[in-house]
Amino acid sequence: MTDAASYLFYQSRNPRPFLDYGEGIYLFDEDGKRYIDGSSGAMVSNIGHSTPRVLAKIKAQMDKATFGYRLHFRTHPSEDLAAKTVAMTPDGLDRVFFVSGGSEAVESAVKLARQYALTQGQPNRHRVISRFPSYHGCTLGALDLTGYDPLRAPFAPMMEGMPKIDAPATYLDRDNLTEEQRGLKYAELLRDRILEEGPENVLTFVMEPVGGASTGALVAPDSYYGRIREICDEYGVLLIYDEVMTGAGRTGKFLAAEHWGITPDIVAMSKGFGAGYAPLGAIIAGARIVEPVLDSGGFQHGFTYAGNPLACSAGLAVLEEMEDQGLIENAAKMGEVLMAELRALMDRYPFIGDVRGKGLLTAFEFVSDLSTMEPLDPALNAYERLVELAYARGLIIYSRRTRGGTAGDHFLLAPPLIITEAQIGEMMVILRDALDAFAA
Ligand code: PMP
Repeated sequence: MTDAASYLFYQSRNPRPFLDYGEGIYLFDEDGKRYIDGSSGAMVSNIGHSTPRVLAKIKAQMDKATFGYRLHFRTHPSEDLAAKTVAMTPDGLDRVFFVSGGSEAVESAVKLARQYALTQGQPNRHRVISRFPSYHGCTLGALDLTGYDPLRAPFAPMMEGMPKIDAPATYLDRDNLTEEQRGLKYAELLRDRILEEGPENVLTFVMEPVGGASTGALVAPDSYYGRIREICDEYGVLLIYDEVMTGAGRTGKFLAAEHWGITPDIVAMSKGFGAGYAPLGAIIAGARIVEPVLDSGGFQHGFTYAGNPLACSAGLAVLEEMEDQGLIENAAKMGEVLMAELRALMDRYPFIGDVRGKGLLTAFEFVSDLSTMEPLDPALNAYERLVELAYARGLIIYSRRTRGGTAGDHFLLAPPLIITEAQIGEMMVILRDALDAFAA
């Protein structure tokens, strides 16, 4: 008999055990082994697994209607979720469009920007500037914005080859600048690039407020954010924040943009928004952007499953749970606890060269030499080995072989926002044990 796994063609055949069930921050395999979900899957399961109140709300919708096409019916879940989302987002972001995932959200944001530019009589505005390194998704459009060469190479030249600027990789910089000066230096790269492309041709600038899969929780200096907003305003370039990973409370605010008091023109969200209870994402924009598009014939866009009542009822239950349980505040508080624990690791393991993050999106990175921040020898395969050592001990962590755009090893720790201080302690015991085994 053929092994059923052979019918699937993901990146590689999966050697892992079968998942059985989830409960809070834990996942259990079919042998009854328990794992701490230390990176919430891929920064997804923000409210933890199998929350009974959330399941009950989704079930209630399931019992009524699982699908009704959005052009055939209004639905309460979609309208209520839109209202709830707007209530949780900063002023100026008050129109919502639902999608089913992060790549869809990013591409939808760019298409909305484009249609807006057309309503403003600016048909030349089509260039989309993004950053290197970055990750914005795997569909062709989102991949074209992604600054991560190994993912792009097989598909080159893809669409048009979108211009990129360097993202701040501050911990690798060897200059004598202050943090503030360094943030401004990197922001000026955007101005240079806009001028190079011709401001009349530039539609948007897309950025992750805190780097995710490509850089590992890399936060720019504070000065970067405000200056980027100013430069976009100066040249009439729309600012898109890709908050697919950082949104929905992950960094200790509903949107990471709130840490710097920035209102992006369009925000893309997914992951923690459906929190694993439904494939769900959204773009959020101001009426200033959306209304002219609607007046000129509507947003020429929409996925079949966009705004379906089942996914929206899950999203609504997730946001209600986050609010009722004070999970965003908990993410901010527990983020500090976790960060202090990670900093302490730097004293114990000389190969941990950097620890960083915001809220419960944190990362640590391996180096071979603290004075030069050179990465470990790739032959050591550190990013896979530590993950395996942790997995064997019942802790799941997410790692990538990238650092500041070059090869290296970083590890993201981003547990569900429900985590307690005691559970962080439990996670650190396993992590230290895995690091000891790695160092041995
Ligand atoms: N943007 C960012 C910042 C992401 O982290 C991801 C997923 N890692 C995506 C977009 C793409 O999301 P999805 O995999 O749901 O398409």
